[in-house]
Amino acid sequence: MATKLLLTLAICRLIVTVGFTFNPNDLLRLGLNGKLSAAPADLQSASVDFGGMYRAEPMAVLHPATSEDVARLVKSAYDSARGFTVSARGHGHSINGQAMTTNGVVVQMSGGGGSKNKMLTKVSEEFMYADVWGGELWIDVLTSTLEYGLAPKSWTDYLYLTVGGTLSNAGISGQAFNHGPQISNVHELDVVTGKGELLTCSEKENSELFQAVLGGLGQFGIITRARIALEQSPQRVRWIRVLYSNFSTFTQDQEYLISLHGKPASQKFDYVEGFVIVDEGLINNWRSSFFSPSNPVKVSSLKAEGGVLYCLEITKNYHLSNADTIDQEIEILLKKLNYIPASEFTTDLPYVDFLDRVHKAELKLRSKGLWEVPHPWLNLFVPKSRIAEFDKGVFKGILGNKTSGPILIYPMNKSKWDDRSSVVTPEEDVFYLVAFLRSALENGDETQTLDYLSNQNYEILKFCEDEKINVKQYLPHYDSQREWRDHFGEKYWTRFQQRKLEFDPRHILATGQRIFMPSF
Ligand code: FAD
Repeated sequence: MATKLLLTLAICRLIVTVGFTFNPNDLLRLGLNGKLSAAPADLQSASVDFGGMYRAEPMAVLHPATSEDVARLVKSAYDSARGFTVSARGHGHSINGQAMTTNGVVVQMSGGGGSKNKMLTKVSEEFMYADVWGGELWIDVLTSTLEYGLAPKSWTDYLYLTVGGTLSNAGISGQAFNHGPQISNVHELDVVTGKGELLTCSEKENSELFQAVLGGLGQFGIITRARIALEQSPQRVRWIRVLYSNFSTFTQDQEYLISLHGKPASQKFDYVEGFVIVDEGLINNWRSSFFSPSNPVKVSSLKAEGGVLYCLEITKNYHLSNADTIDQEIEILLKKLNYIPASEFTTDLPYVDFLDRVHKAELKLRSKGLWEVPHPWLNLFVPKSRIAEFDKGVFKGILGNKTSGPILIYPMNKSKWDDRSSVVTPEEDVFYLVAFLRSALENGDETQTLDYLSNQNYEILKFCEDEKINVKQYLPHYDSQREWRDHFGEKYWTRFQQRKLEFDPRHILATGQRIFMPSF
């Protein structure tokens, strides 16, 4: 029996109502091995994300058991005269509803549900790769590969994200200067296209699909399997933080460190990140917990130019078998840097604990009820040639002296990014990630409210536009196709559109990105 549904999509204060017709029996006839659910709890969890600012309820949620389940569902959407949308949902850690859909089915890629038959991670020790399910969390990939003494090379700061979710964006952290983003560390994918075909793709096979899907914002297919490059896993990490009061000294040092990417492992750090400290409150922030409370450095005693300090965060990985040379290697590297001498802070920990560091902070925030709050995050790639102006206008200008969350800043080498993938980055050899990772608190002071922080994000983007600083949003979010066009630039927009036409001609997939409207 046809069911007439009216779904309400609440976008902040904007309410959009979509009406459509759908026959749930069509889906029941697909013979899926997984679980298709319209249970309120499933619909509710697929209607929200980490950003906490958008809400859109699907009509059903599929917990797939196999890639074929995903293919059958998408094929049915593609073939059906009425049509419906299909959005893969990784772990729902998007900010702006990117994994949601109002008039279709969410494929819940992570988690248990109907996943009994889902593929298990398979590790090839000989060829140093792991074949993993697209909805696998990176923490679980790590656990599986460590059984063989191996680990992926390129990471995100937080591991409770799915393989398919981060590969649809890029997947970056402090290793990206050296290994490239996660999308540069994938050998092969199984992908269900918007036509419902299940295809294997790689550099050599179906290469256009392979490149399209990497950084493709879920627009061209659903990744059901990824073959991830591995390395011998380090055992321990020396984790160092040093402070700077001068921005140009800070960026010179960061750029110097990432220029060492071609050197032997002993002559470079393994991870280079950094963050901006505009208020002392941040020192006690979740990302920087190891500065406090026993940190001997009194931040207020350091003379910050323009009231802002910069923290360089670096690590050196090692095996216990070469522990005796690590101190010397670090000393040689640190001697080249020009940080505030008294500000060095070092700790030593197991590799897994370093990789999983943000999860510990998550547990603390959860216990205080501060995790499930709105997160108006803004991530920008800023060209190296304009980063000093960005510092002056934003860190020392727009932000004032309260930030409501960590602000990360670190450079990456463009040479480690593949131009054939769908992700866009600034046209310079080196560009910075600047990430404003802020939490809104309705009961906080005025500078902590969602309105205040959202307006500040807008001001930052407006500043870049006025000053013609050609930033690119990472994990991009736009409201109109004109803005998407600008984001990609004419050349890459044409390519993106052609790829859409080839792989998802009915615009079924990942409509929560709001790039293309479904054609039914
Ligand atoms: P979702 O949010 O569920 O999905 C994201 C998009 O990908 C959606 O459009 C969805 O339809 C699509 N998608 C999901 N799965 C698939 C699939 N299998 N195939 C095709 N498309 C799919 N990012 C970084 O790069 N570096 C970081 O250090 C980092 N740290 C983070 C820390 C936290 C606390 C949070 C909340 C996010 C962080 N992110 C980081 C962002 C993260 O990479 C993105 O949110 C990304 O979308 C992964 O999240 P997810 O697996 O929950 O995917």
